[in-house]
Formats: sequence, structure tokens, C-alpha cells
Amino acid sequence: MEITKISNAIRFKPLLPAIVNGILIKRSSSNSQSYDVAVVGGGIVGSASAREILKRHPNLKLAIIEKEDSFAAHQSGNNSGVIHAGIYYKPGSLKAKLCVKGLDLMYKFCEEKGIKYKKSGKLIAATCQQEIPRLLELYDRGQKNGVKDIKLVDSKGIQEIEPLCKGIKGIWSPHTGITNYREVTQHLVKDIVQCGGTKYLNFEVKKFSESDNPDFPVNISDGKNNSIAAKYVLTCCGLHSDTVAVLSGCSPNPKIIPFRGEYLYLKENKSNMCKINIYPVPDPRFPFLGVHVTPTVDGRIILGPNAVLALSREGYRWTDVNVSELMGILNYSGFRQLAMKYTAFGLKEIAKSLITPLQINGIQRFIKGIHYKDIEIGPSGVRAQAMAEDGTLIEDFVFDSQPGSGTVGSRVLHCRNAPSPGATSSLAIAMMIADKMESQFKL
Ligand SMILES: Cc1cc2nc3c(=O)[nH]c(=O)nc-3n(C[C@H](O)[C@H](O)[C@H](O)COP(=O)(O)OP(=O)(O)OC[C@H]3O[C@@H](n4cnc5c(N)ncnc54)[C@H](O)[C@@H]3O)c2cc1C
Repeated sequence: MEITKISNAIRFKPLLPAIVNGILIKRSSSNSQSYDVAVVGGGIVGSASAREILKRHPNLKLAIIEKEDSFAAHQSGNNSGVIHAGIYYKPGSLKAKLCVKGLDLMYKFCEEKGIKYKKSGKLIAATCQQEIPRLLELYDRGQKNGVKDIKLVDSKGIQEIEPLCKGIKGIWSPHTGITNYREVTQHLVKDIVQCGGTKYLNFEVKKFSESDNPDFPVNISDGKNNSIAAKYVLTCCGLHSDTVAVLSGCSPNPKIIPFRGEYLYLKENKSNMCKINIYPVPDPRFPFLGVHVTPTVDGRIILGPNAVLALSREGYRWTDVNVSELMGILNYSGFRQLAMKYTAFGLKEIAKSLITPLQINGIQRFIKGIHYKDIEIGPSGVRAQAMAEDGTLIEDFVFDSQPGSGTVGSRVLHCRNAPSPGATSSLAIAMMIADKMESQFKL
């Protein structure tokens, strides 16, 4: 048996080392490029899941594979950095359960690893009577979801918590916080390596096929010279989760539609203006929370994100256009139905993206004292939003696999939708994924 492994290991072409920022990154710390478990996708969900699997099964040989030259290069490294408390989500949904559990786990992880975090607290502010029923509905959801210590406050209560906020009624959530999820992901990967896992960077998975080694039957390749073999595979590919799922025979639906979220910065001399997170009452038609005010752990204040269609899956700017990805979106029946239904909303969002003062008007509705002169353009992130063929925006986490569909399909589990608050929930999602891997693959 050992001889078979060795002969196959030799057939797998070795990966060349990469040099990133002047540092030599060894692509594999293992002699043989075959693994019990391969996790594709080095965002926070893939990294947390790989770490959890290794924590539970320290003898497994595990690899984490990422297409970029660093971990957390996409959603996990380009977000608001908020540790959500779990108010918004439908009671009983995975989002609700995993966020509430994930918050405690995230604070504990940050504390243990010395990662900067702050329990800054958050106000959701209603600014007019029409928003109050929705605010009360959110409060009710928060109670049902078991969010700790939230309370309703009137305009006087809002003023006491944050004099900048203009609301007439609000929800105060003292346990909402902030951190830096890129740093969290880096610590997760550090743990993986310390537990004997192997990391691959610059390895874009383009193909799953059956290997001729019965012990490690799934061949994972970049479609060129690089491949490794695995017994079981987990994919957590964010903006590419649908196309990667198709590689193992799963349906192209739900499709990922990329929505860019653009941020503005308050100028550095205004960084002390506000110490807490302030959110508007969100539009119930969309899974986005609305442009909000967030202090960062680095001492800045960000305003955003808005939500505009990105012109490519990794479209961080208007100029990032990928014609074939864009045609794929525009030709998708689900997207066309959504676009027809919400044309006016979409156009308004585009206008706000292109004309910054319009964006600031929206913020001035619930925040005092923010002016155009106090603002500079900030970073952006792209949300992987799963959409069904009928145009429904899928809000909850989605997993997919094809048990009984042949050697490859039955050994691959895909995490197809891990939207916000996916970073907050990541350590809880990881526990659920590890349970799934154990029961489906008898790890
Ligand atoms: C603008 C914005 C704001 C947000 N704010 C918050 C917030 O405040 N709080 C919160 O909890 N959540 C927030 N989220 C959501 C959160 O960031 C995501 O839920 C979370 O990061 C998802 O992690 P992931 O690992 O699934 O995806 P990603 O971080 O996108 O990771 C997927 C990885 O897979 C890799 N990959 C893709 N295809 C391949 C391939 N073929 N081969 C190898 N690797 C591949 C990618 O390069 C990427 O690194 C926000 C998201 C955005 C975009």
C-alpha cells in the first residue's frame, strides 16, 4: 500500500515555490501531495473549517488551497469588520443561530490570540414613524434569536448613548463589536500549519477528476501542471462558489451575483467623532443592512457599504470589468427578474456610487455633523450574493454535495453561500461544517 502511495506521489507534479513580497512561500510542507482532506478557499470560512477539522482529527493530513498569494484576499479581508450580535436574521435560520454562537466564539478567539477587537456597541436608529414597525420587528427578532441585553431606546436614550445620532427610536445592542477579519484569518491559518496542515497559495482549482489512487481518489488540479490528491474535499470559494460546485457535478444554481460595497472614510481628524456602530433601519426587501457608520480597530471611521452590481466577480472598482462574467450575470434569468423589479432602486444606488454627496445625504438622515468636506474615498468589498433562478436573493447559508454521484461528486462538499454575518459566524459555521464532514464522509 505504501508503495502505491509513493508511486502516485511521484506522478503528481511538484508545485514550484512562490515569492511573495520577497518571502519564499513553500507550497507544501509534506513529502507526498496526497491528503485525507483538502479545503479549497482560504477565506475565513475555509480557514476556520480546516482548523476545526484538524482540531477534532489531529491525525488527518489536511491541505488548504487558495488561488491568491495571500489568505483572506476577498470578502474576508474586505468587509466592515463588525462582530454582529444576531438581531436581523429570521428566527430559527442558520444565520440567526450561527451568528449568536459565532459572536461568543469570535470574542474568545480574538482574546486568546491577542487580535485587536472592541465591544463598541451598536444603535439601529429609526428616523421617521414609518420605520418604527420594522424596528420593532427587528427587536422582536433579536429577542427570539437570544441576542443578549438588547433594549429599545427613545430619542433621549439615543442622545445619551451617541449624541451624533438623530433617531426617534432605536435598538441598543451593547455586545456588537469590531475586529479585523483579515488578521483573524491569518491566525486561523497559523493554527492550521501548527497542527500539521499544509497551505498552498497561488493554486486556483480548475478541475476535479478521479485519480488512479484508490486511497486518495479525488484529483484536484489547476488545469495546468499542478495537482494534488485527496480522499475528501470541502470547498468554501465565496465569489466563485457556484462555478467551483459545477466542477464536481453540482447545479450552477444558485448563481453568485457579485454586489460591490463601497466605503467612504471620515478624514483622520474626524476619527474621534463617533465611538459606536450606527445603523439605519434596513430595507426589508434586500439582505443588505444599509450604509452604516463603523469605527475600525485601527482608529478610523468608515461609512458604508452601499450595494451596486459589480461588473466582475472581483470587481472592486467600476473599471474592473470581466465581459464573460458580466454576460453570465446579465443573461441569468434570476438577475433579469430582480433588475426589472428594482430598476429604480438599482439606478439610485449607481447614482450614489458615482456622486458621493448623494451618498452623504443618506447618512445625514441619521447622523449629525457629517459634511462632504469631512469625507475621503475608502476601500470596497464585493459580496458573493447567491441568487435563485427566479430572482430570489438567498439569505441563508447553503451547502451542496452529490452523495451517490460517483467517486468525485460524492466526496466533495461545497459551502455555496456564506453571506454576512459570515465572518462573525465563521467559527460556528466551521463546527457545523466539521459535523457535516464527519457524518457525510465518516472522518
Ligand atoms: C462589503 C462587505 C461587508 C461585510 N461586512 C461584514 C461584517 O461586518 N461582519 C460579518 O460578519 N460579515 C461581513 N461580511 C461578510 C463576510 O465578509 C463573508 O461572509 C465572509 O468573509 C465569507 O467568507 P468566505 O471564506 O466564505 O469567502 P471569501 O473570503 O471570499 O473566501 C473565498 C476564498 O476562496 C478563494 N477561491 C475562490 N475560488 C477558488 C479556486 N477555484 N481555487 C482556490 N481558491 C479559490 C478566493 O480567492 C477566496 O480567498 C461582509 C462582506 C462584504 C463583501
